[in-house]
Amino acid sequence: MTAYRVNARACASCASPMAVHHVAHQGQRIQIDQCERCGSIFLDYFDGEPGAVARSIEKAGQFRPKVAGSAKNCPECQVPLALTPYLEEGGPEIFRCGECGGAFILPVQLTALADHELPPPVLKKHPTVELFETVMDFIQGLKQL
Ligand SMILES: [Zn+2]
Ligand SMILES: [Zn+2]
Repeated sequence: MTAYRVNARACASCASPMAVHHVAHQGQRIQIDQCERCGSIFLDYFDGEPGAVARSIEKAGQFRPKVAGSAKNCPECQVPLALTPYLEEGGPEIFRCGECGGAFILPVQLTALADHELPPPVLKKHPTVELFETVMDFIQGLKQL
């Protein structure tokens, strides 16, 4: 079944609407956004470790490697995405949003990501969480004055 969000996210590569799919991932069902046209994937930062998610997507038969492309703006925040090597220099490249921490992955990148075996990943905290913790530390410090 294909479901759309009330405001469907637009694919950062081909601008087609992205549909919501449910994928079994580590005993849970997670929602991913996938472009109906080019097969690109958008993952929210909380969906899980992108490499492991890519393997779950592969298992679920949601791989639709089609054309290579490029990505422009984050489907969620509309800020330009940055092409970054995943976790390490020389790792498969994915598009990252510096604003929401989401990952936009072209089909060709998804294949590379799923094939890439990783040491246990060091997950970066979401920027908002980090800010919150900094503020809490600050408040704690004030209380001790
Ligand atoms: Zn697309
Ligand atoms: Zn974003």
